Order: sequence, then structure tokens, then C-alpha cells
Amino acid sequence: MAKVTLEQIHKVYPNGFEAVTPSSFDIPDGEFVVLVGPSGCGKSTLLRMIAGLEDISSGNLSIGDRVVNDVDPADRNIAMVFQNYALYPHMTVAKNMGYGLKNRGVSKEEIAKKVQEAAEMLDLTKYLDRRPSQLSGGQRQRVAMGRAIVRNPDLFLFDEPLSNLDAKLRNQMRIEIRALQRRLGVTAIYVTHDQVEAMTMADRIIVLNEGRIEQIGTPTEIYENPASTFVAGFMGAPPMNLLKATVNGSGTAKVTDGLEFDAPVTAEGDVLVGIRPEDLEPAEDGALQMDVQIVEELGANRLLHGLMGGQAFSVSVPKQQAAQAGEVRLRMKSGATHFFNPGTGRRL
Ligand code: ATP
Repeated sequence: MAKVTLEQIHKVYPNGFEAVTPSSFDIPDGEFVVLVGPSGCGKSTLLRMIAGLEDISSGNLSIGDRVVNDVDPADRNIAMVFQNYALYPHMTVAKNMGYGLKNRGVSKEEIAKKVQEAAEMLDLTKYLDRRPSQLSGGQRQRVAMGRAIVRNPDLFLFDEPLSNLDAKLRNQMRIEIRALQRRLGVTAIYVTHDQVEAMTMADRIIVLNEGRIEQIGTPTEIYENPASTFVAGFMGAPPMNLLKATVNGSGTAKVTDGLEFDAPVTAEGDVLVGIRPEDLEPAEDGALQMDVQIVEELGANRLLHGLMGGQAFSVSVPKQQAAQAGEVRLRMKSGATHFFNPGTGRRL
């Protein structure tokens, strides 16, 4: 087990492309950190630098108390789990799981013991003699996890490990991976583009955008206090509504006539008013009016999509609440507005 420290870690690829701007953060021992962001934001590059599979252009990377910039991947005591499992097709599950230990000269008895322990943890004991082709996707992913566990690593690195699985299995594996990491207490860094995985699995989330860290925080901090419109839009489905408005010195942000919100003291001129879809509720005497154009049924709740003040707007209401297209009056829950600078996208 180990803490991980990144100090001004920077990546410029040989073609001159800056994939990761100088970035710093600490991951305490035992924490589960999720790197999340859209395709191309640099999350795999960052993970691969931590793994030692990609050179670090500048900055210092420490695992435990040791700077590992120049340490071989094999000597960093990390274990990686990828989306394509990378299992050996001609080997049994037991051999796949023990292969890394065999290469390190661990005795047969010790390997058998470790593989058995990991198989029990992962509910794989029945499958130890099968080959990967005779397993389901979820079982293969568990074998890949088993191969990582038997090595007693200081650090687990996961690169989109669940993307090849169907939605139901993904939900199940998400819980399994999180439970296993808690049980083992091993520090973990997990890369995904899926904000639901980030929200549900992370102790802390690092949101990346175009090679830059947008925000670091617990899932609740990130969701309730997004640092930018990028984070507000990326975390949450449907994303936070962002209404263009103007503050004219009166302390209110005006979207159109009759549609105004109390603005913070720091707001001035053009602003974006952010409102999460679930932070409004239908109410006959509600001060806000929305023109609902589409109702989406999601089972537990309904999404109303349409316009507020002439701008696109979505609201999520519990299934108990009837909803149909047309004009609807809404009430805000208290403290539910967020304000952003439309130029920089930063929170005000
Ligand atoms: P995805 O979710 O699609 O895998 P990602 O966030 O993991 O995306 P990276 O793979 O880290 O993104 O890539 C970050 C950026 O660096 C991308 O714009 C990519 O095109 C670029 N890039 C990746 N590898 C190289 C390379 N070897 N040379 C030049 N540019 C690269």
C-alpha cells in the first residue's frame, strides 16, 4: 500500500502535442481516485505515466516515499487492469492468475495458495481449470482482477476496465471492484469517461479537460459545487441547466422579464445561472414557468425537456408527479442556484 504524489507532472508527446499540462495532486494511502473526462482529455496518458508505460516530460512522480520517474514499470509494484483483460488464451484461469508470480520465481506452493485465496475472494474457484474463452466477460474481468491481486501491489491502476461489459454487468462489477478495493485497502487510480462510475466508485474524483485538471473533490463536492461550467455539464445526467442572464447592480440575475434569480455579490454583467434538473419541483404557485415539449419516462422519475425564458431547460420529477407537455409552473428548492462567468466558465 502506498500514497502517490504527482508534482507538476507534464506530458508533451514527441510530435509536440501537450497531452497533460503540469499537474499536481496527492493520493493518500488506501484512497480510490477516479480520473474522469471526455475522450482525449489525457486521462490514459496520466495513468500510463504513473504506470511507467509512458515517459514523464517533466515533474516528479512518487509512489510511497520513492521518486519513480526512472523506475522500470516492473519495479514499481503496481498492478494494472485494462478493458481488454489481456489474458493468455492458451492458459487456464489459475495459470493466468499465477503467471506474474511464476515469472518472479515465487514457489509453486506459494502461487497455488495466493491463486486460491484470490479465486475465493472473486468467486472464481469453480473456474480455475477453464480457459478464458470458456468464461463470460464479467468472469474474465474478475480473472484480470485476480491476476492483479495475487501480486500484493502497492497500487492498482484501472484503465476503463468495465467498458466491454453490458450495462447490468458493469453495475455489478462496479460494486465488486469497489468492495474488493476497500477490503484490500490498496490505493487505486481508476480511469473512466463515465461520470456515473466516477460518482459511484470514487473517494475523490479528478475531472480532466483538455489535459488540465478542472476540479478535484469528493463526488458530493464535485456535484454540489462544480468549479466550472465544464464540470457542471459533465457530472450529472441530464447535465446542469445553464441559463444566460445579466446582473445589473441590483443583485438579481435577469434571464428575461419575469425570470430573475438572486445573484451573489461577486456577480456582475453577463452570467450563467446553473440549476440542476432535480432542484426544481412542480408547484401551482411556483414562480418559474417552463414550456414542456417532451416528457421522458425513466421509471423512477420523469424528465421534462423544454424551454425556460426561451432557453433549453430540463427538469427531473419523481414518478409520483404527473407530467405532460405544455406550460408548467415550478418552484426552486432553496440554495439551488449556481453562478458562472460565461467567458471563463469558472464559478463565481
Ligand atoms: P480516451 O478516453 O479516448 O482513451 P484519454 O482521455 O485517455 O482518451 P489520452 O489517450 O490520454 O486521452 O490522449 C490524450 C491526448 O493525447 C489525445 O488528444 C491523443 O490524441 C493524444 N495522444 C495520445 N497518444 C499520443 C502519441 N503517442 N503521440 C501524440 N499524441 C498522442
